Amino acid sequence: MATLKTRARIFVLVILAALPALLLTVYSAVERRASTENQARAELRRLVKLAAMQQWQVVEGARQMMVASSQVLFTLLSDRRRCTEYFASLLAQNREAYHSMGLFTPDGQLFCNAASWRDKVYSGDRLYFRLAKETGRFTVGEYQVGRVTGKAGINFGFPLRDADSKLYAVAFAGLDLENLGRMAEATPLPPEGILSVVDVKGTVLARKPAMPERVGKRLWNSQVIDAVLAGREGVLEAKGEDGVDWLLAHEVVTQNPDGAFPLRVMVTVPLSRVFSEGNRALVRDLLGISLATLFLLVGVWYGTEWFMLRKIGGLLRAADRVRGGDLNARTGIPYGGEELSQLAQAFDDMALALQQREQKLQEQAISDPLTGLYNRRYLNEFLPRELVRCRRGAAPLAVMLIDLDHFKRINDSFGHEAGDVVLKAIAALLKGKVRGSDIACRYGGEEFALILPETGLDAAVRRAEVIRLAIARLVVSHAGAPLGKITTSLGIALFPDHGEDSDALLRAADVALYAAKGAGRDRVVVGSAEKR
Ligand code: GH3
Ligand code: MG
Ligand code: MG
Repeated sequence: MATLKTRARIFVLVILAALPALLLTVYSAVERRASTENQARAELRRLVKLAAMQQWQVVEGARQMMVASSQVLFTLLSDRRRCTEYFASLLAQNREAYHSMGLFTPDGQLFCNAASWRDKVYSGDRLYFRLAKETGRFTVGEYQVGRVTGKAGINFGFPLRDADSKLYAVAFAGLDLENLGRMAEATPLPPEGILSVVDVKGTVLARKPAMPERVGKRLWNSQVIDAVLAGREGVLEAKGEDGVDWLLAHEVVTQNPDGAFPLRVMVTVPLSRVFSEGNRALVRDLLGISLATLFLLVGVWYGTEWFMLRKIGGLLRAADRVRGGDLNARTGIPYGGEELSQLAQAFDDMALALQQREQKLQEQAISDPLTGLYNRRYLNEFLPRELVRCRRGAAPLAVMLIDLDHFKRINDSFGHEAGDVVLKAIAALLKGKVRGSDIACRYGGEEFALILPETGLDAAVRRAEVIRLAIARLVVSHAGAPLGKITTSLGIALFPDHGEDSDALLRAADVALYAAKGAGRDRVVVGSAEKR
C-alpha cells in the first residue's frame, strides 16, 4: 500500500514535470495560430485586390468602348437602321464579352439595338439608365435578366450629350456574366478558396469555382451581406450555410456616380484550411509530448520498481520481522552508495547488533560470570528437557555433583582471591572433560554439576574417577605460591535408576555426594533409588 503511494506520487511528479512543455506547446500553438491568421488575412486581401483589379478591367473596357463610340453614335441618332447596323457590327466584334448593345432615347424607349427587336422595350426604370440620365456619367447596373434577350447579365450605361450638354440618348451594353466568370477563373486562389463577384445588392454575378446555380442568387448569409455591403473593403470571419467557418475578404471593383458600389469581389477560405497546418503541428506536438510522457511513466513504473520499491519492500519486510522479534531478519539488498542501499546496510547492521546483544544477554543469563560455565538456572532448564529426550529414546543419563573438599580452608589460608583462582582452574579442567552433548555447570559456591546424556553407570563412574584424579593432580598457584593439593567428593545419580525427574536425580546425586563426604571425602559415590 505504502509502495503504491510512492509510485503514485512519482507519477504525479512526472506529469507535473511534463506540464510546462504541454503549456508551452499550447501557448506557442495559440501564437502560431494568431500569426497564421494574420498571414492568411494579408494573403486574402492581396488576392481580393488582384481580383478586383481584374474585374475592374472588364468595366473599364466597357467604358472605353462607349467613350470611343460616342462621337459616331451622335451621327446615328437620325437613322435607326444605320444605328442598328453599327451596334450589330460592334457587338459582332465583342461577341464574347457582351450579349446586347444599343441606344435608348432619354425617355427610356429603345431606339436601336444590335439585334433587331420588333416589340417596344422600355428601360426607364433600370438603375444604370436612371443613373446615367441623372448624373450624365458612365454607370454600372445590377444583376438583371434582359427583357429582350432573356439573358442574365449586368448592363453599362453611358449618356450621350450634345454640345449644349443636353442628353439625347443613353447607350447601353449588356455584359455577359461569363465574361466576369472568365476573369474570376483567371484569379489564382488558395486550395478550397472561393471567389465571388457580387452586385450592389449582394447578388452573385460570377464565381470561381464556377457554380451556375449560384449565379443570380443572393449571398447565403444576410449578416455577411450587410457586413460586406457596408464597406469598401475588409476581412471578416463568417459561418457558412454548411456550418463551416470562413475567412472572407472583400473589395469594391468600381463606384457609380451616386457613390454606391455596383460591383464587389469576395474571396473566402475555410478557417480549418487556414489552420490545418498549425492544427496538424499542434496535434503532432501534443502527441509527441503525450507519448514521451507515457514512455517516461512506463520508465518510472519499472524504474521505481527496480531502484526503489524492491528495496523499500525488502526494508519493510525485514523491519516487520524485526518488529515481530525475529532478529535474524536481513533486507537482502545489495549494499552500495545509493541512499536506500545505505539505509539497508544500516538496517542490517542494526539488526545484527541487536541480535548480538540479545545473544550476549542470553548467554549472560545462563552462564556463571566467574567460571564461564553454565549456571544453575540453565541446568534447571536443560535437565528436564534432556530427560524428555532420554525417555523418548530410552537412553540413560548421568548427573554428577562435584564438591571441593575443605574449600573453606583455601579461602581462609590464601584468601578469597586464591579461592576464585582455584574455582576457575577447576572450571577449565571440567570444560576439558566434557563431550559435545554434555554440559558443565557451576551448581553452587564450590560445587559443580555435570550432565552426561547417554551415559550409563560404568561410564559415569569411570569418568568421575578420571575427573577426581585429574583435579587431585592439578597444581594451582596464586601470587607465586602453590595452593596445595585439591581433592573432591563426587556423587553420581543415574536416570532412570535413581530418579525419574530432574529434582529426584539431583537429590539422589546430592545424597551420594553427602555420602562421599561422610565416608572421608576424595571419592566417588553412586546414588541409590529414593526410598519411599
Ligand atoms: P566440605 O569439605 O565439607 O565441603 O568443606 P568446605 O569448606 O568445602 O565446605 P563449606 O560449605 O563449609 O564451605 C564452602 C566455602 O566455599 C564457604 C565459602 O566461603 C566458599 N565459597 C563459596 N563461594 C565462593 C566463591 O565464589 N569464591 C571463594 N573464594 N569462595 C567461595
Ligand atoms: Mg559445598
Ligand atoms: Mg566443599
